[in-house]
Amino acid sequence: MSPKCDWCHRKSQDLETKQLTFKSGDEEVRVCGPDCETQLVDFYAYAESHVVHFLAGLLLVPAIGGAIAVWRESVDNGGLGYLIMGAGMGIAIIKYPFTTPQTAQLMGMKNAIRLARIIGTLLVLTGIVLFTVCNWFVA
Ligand SMILES: [Zn+2]
Repeated sequence: MSPKCDWCHRKSQDLETKQLTFKSGDEEVRVCGPDCETQLVDFYAYAESHVVHFLAGLLLVPAIGGAIAVWRESVDNGGLGYLIMGAGMGIAIIKYPFTTPQTAQLMGMKNAIRLARIIGTLLVLTGIVLFTVCNWFVA
């Protein structure tokens, strides 16, 4: 397997290996140029400072949405709760598009971020569809 850039996932024979230092420890990355290095470093820093928000969002939003869905079961079949769950989790993922290291390694960080944003968008749409269905198509 020929080495690929950790950010853009382009194959290159002359990748630079860089040692980056973060709060959580050192990380060795391979990048194809200064452009990718800057973007990768920026994203790592962003992820490091927001991973708590990301996790809180993914835990709290479904809990709140679930409670509202149960509470409003007789009003709108839980539609508002589903909207909060879908849209809230979707927005959290779009804003904090953090994937597993395995995913990032498989497709490059840049593409992993794009994939996360697509999943986030689908979640928002799912929430809107469920909300609509619960309010207008379920008697
Ligand atoms: Zn690159």
